[in-house]
Amino acid sequence: MVCFCFLVDQTRRVRRSKPAAGLCSRCGSGASVADMMTATRFCYVPFYWRSWKAIICTFCGAILKSYR
Ligand SMILES: [Zn+2]
Repeated sequence: MVCFCFLVDQTRRVRRSKPAAGLCSRCGSGASVADMMTATRFCYVPFYWRSWKAIICTFCGAILKSYR
């Protein structure tokens, strides 16, 4: 049996962000609206990208809200 779990991973990147109203519930820093990008990789070769919007914390990187 071959297990692919170790070969597939996802990386998340912030393409750009701008300040938004609101505070992080974890650390209390300012939140920002970000264009996120998730890349799914197989054997370290990206084969699927998805872009989405989210409100993230600029300090700790927590995702406070996400839009699909
Ligand atoms: Zn935070």
